[in-house]
Amino acid sequence: SHNQFHRDTWVDIDLDAIQYNIQQVAEQVGAEVSIMAVVKGNAYGHGYLQIAKTALRSGASHLAVALLDEALFLRRNGIEAPIVVLGASRAEDAGIAAQQQVQLTVFNVEWIEKASTYISGDDTLFLHLKCDTGMGRIGVKTADEVKKIEKVIYQHASLHLEGIFTHFATADQIDRTYGDEQLARFQQLLEQLEKRPHFVHASNSAGALTREDSLFSLIRFGISMYGLSPSDEIAGILPIKLKPALSFHTTLTHVKKIMPGEKVSYGSTYVADHQEWIGTLPLGYADGWIRKMQGFEVLIDGVKVPIVGRVCMDQCMIRLPQSFPLGTKVTLIGEQKNNKILIDEVARHLETIHYEVACAISSRVPRVYW
Ligand code: PLP
Repeated sequence: SHNQFHRDTWVDIDLDAIQYNIQQVAEQVGAEVSIMAVVKGNAYGHGYLQIAKTALRSGASHLAVALLDEALFLRRNGIEAPIVVLGASRAEDAGIAAQQQVQLTVFNVEWIEKASTYISGDDTLFLHLKCDTGMGRIGVKTADEVKKIEKVIYQHASLHLEGIFTHFATADQIDRTYGDEQLARFQQLLEQLEKRPHFVHASNSAGALTREDSLFSLIRFGISMYGLSPSDEIAGILPIKLKPALSFHTTLTHVKKIMPGEKVSYGSTYVADHQEWIGTLPLGYADGWIRKMQGFEVLIDGVKVPIVGRVCMDQCMIRLPQSFPLGTKVTLIGEQKNNKILIDEVARHLETIHYEVACAISSRVPRVYW
């Protein structure tokens, strides 16, 4: 495929899978519930613009990011849909947010007073009030804070309360107890409002797919838009089928036979037992294929083979059952013939979660869309 890169290591993104996953969740939650596509972190490593555009033409009405800079990047590139910054922003940046029609998260009265002084002319800043019902990250916790913030927002013509929301800490677990507590707290805080804003939202992917009681008027759909279950624990109880969008590939740049006792990579920690075929791959930790990937496997010709020796910044080595032609495709995440390596398996090897693996594939790796 054509892109501005000149290397044979790439991520394939299946945009039809993104569309499919959104259509599935839309059917599941019903037409009354709006879908906010969460595209922070370069769309979980999948690419801001292509994912944002695909999500919007597939049924999402809103986009969510973590940072104002991410929202401004989308605006600069022609995205006109409502964008909400879910994280904290600087009060000094309220002016540019209002001017660019980027919606911000608020949870502090002084911040709001200060932010209002930065908004110019007829601009209006749309705000979402964040409630901390048990995530313990950002948000207001008391009835007084909710009432006060609502009042202050109504006192400023340049401010508009567009939404109120909270975030579940454990929606990806089977045990609903803590989520039930969070929901009850959120309901209590909602009751403090004089007037409900247009958008009330609580659910991430896990909540959207497992808690019918928490849909409100909008869901924030992230990980499962990319086709991944929020966790192994609830993978078996998801009401919809998901299609993973991302796969990760490279090609052989070198193949050689080494003799017993010959060594591979930094530190000479890998020593051949027998005569062995060793292949070299043109990716390494600068691509997000981190040193801890040593000992894991990749697919070549549909067969799993081990990564041997230390992973270097830009290259790593694999042990082959036989010689293969240079340029042979090697799959790091994805399917080959009847075999596959799931991103979850990579995550398990790295003792982390799939979210982190996808985000870690660096910007040096081209994303190819089809
Ligand atoms: N809402 C908030 C506040 C988040 O921080 C995130 C991402 O972590 C999401 C929604 C999306 O969550 P998920 O990717 O699990 O759907």
